[in-house]
Amino acid sequence: MLRSIIVLLCVLQFTPATAQNKRSTILISFDGFRWDYVDRGFSPTLDSLRRAGASAASLQPVNPTKTFPNHLAIVTGMYPEDHGIIQNDFWDRTAGRRFRISDTVEVRDPRWYTGEAVWETARKAGRITASYFWPGSELSDELRRPQMYEFYEHQRPYPLRVTGVLRWLALPEQQCPDLILLYFDAVDTHGHQSGPASSQVNNAIAQVDSSLRSLIDGLRRLSIADRTNIIVVSDHGMSEIVPERTVSIDHILAGERYRTQWNGTMVGVESLDGTDSILARKLRDSLSLHAEVFLKKDIPASYRFSRNTHIPPVMVFAKAGWSILPTTVSSGDLLNYGRGSHGYDSDSPEMHGILIAAGPSFRSGA
Ligand code: AMP
Ligand code: ZN
Ligand code: ZN
Repeated sequence: MLRSIIVLLCVLQFTPATAQNKRSTILISFDGFRWDYVDRGFSPTLDSLRRAGASAASLQPVNPTKTFPNHLAIVTGMYPEDHGIIQNDFWDRTAGRRFRISDTVEVRDPRWYTGEAVWETARKAGRITASYFWPGSELSDELRRPQMYEFYEHQRPYPLRVTGVLRWLALPEQQCPDLILLYFDAVDTHGHQSGPASSQVNNAIAQVDSSLRSLIDGLRRLSIADRTNIIVVSDHGMSEIVPERTVSIDHILAGERYRTQWNGTMVGVESLDGTDSILARKLRDSLSLHAEVFLKKDIPASYRFSRNTHIPPVMVFAKAGWSILPTTVSSGDLLNYGRGSHGYDSDSPEMHGILIAAGPSFRSGA
């Protein structure tokens, strides 16, 4: 997946931008849009884009299949262990600092981000860039963010996002962005709440598709539709989860002193007594049906999830459809975990997303 996106972005880098016919590119993310959602009949605009342009059968995300790690992988071409955002929420135990996507101070702190994003590369090459809510695009260091950007606001209505992008594209040639990034959450949000098979997800598919329609209509009104590239991606898919497929690990590690990070699709564990291998063995013996358990140093190279100091010494990766919880939770509370989740191994087909691109830089039908 990284290779295909890097190829796409390299093609764009060398597209000539003359004064009269600047070719802008819009990279759009539909969060949590699983690869097979395009076949449900709720996305006529994506369908026509797919017919007009190039597309992949599916997009394989990177581990962990979560929002920030994947959005940063898409714009840096690096795996999370290298670009630094290894989860939506994680600790730097040495510094006693915690990254969390809901913490705007940390989200904007450039020290967490160890990869160069495409907007930084493009800026160095003299290009103009803009982002409407792409994760990691609102850093406090002016040189590490796009020239134009918005602070994330979850509830901001979609028509405002679309008109914001169109306003950038209507700027005079010298100020008009070469690259714009745009983000919509609805498909992911409803996938979590109601599960991937729900009518709520179908409505969300229709909603983001209609935002795409408004954007394309706006490009037509500006007479720039045939010189604008559109790339639509998603960061991961979604799996159905049920309370019955939940296992907690506190009883397995009873009597041990340890701390955990994360829950559901993966749990990181760290012994407070230097007994990580004992914890790993106990977890492996008890969870063989529901999860893979590794000491950090033994995580298979194909996971690409080990060489970062913020990854805990023991990792529990739930098998698809299972949820692993640090502590035992009542059956009533289990329902609060929702009906959909992602974060499973990126090899799992249900974690795959979409990649569809159309415009003057892309071959039709490829
Ligand atoms: P996940 O838990 O991996 O499904 O993350 C999805 C959530 O990430 C969305 O529902 C948003 O609340 C959040 N999110 C997406 N983009 C941003 C952003 N740029 N800044 C902060 N939070 C974001
Ligand atoms: Zn996501
Ligand atoms: Zn999500």
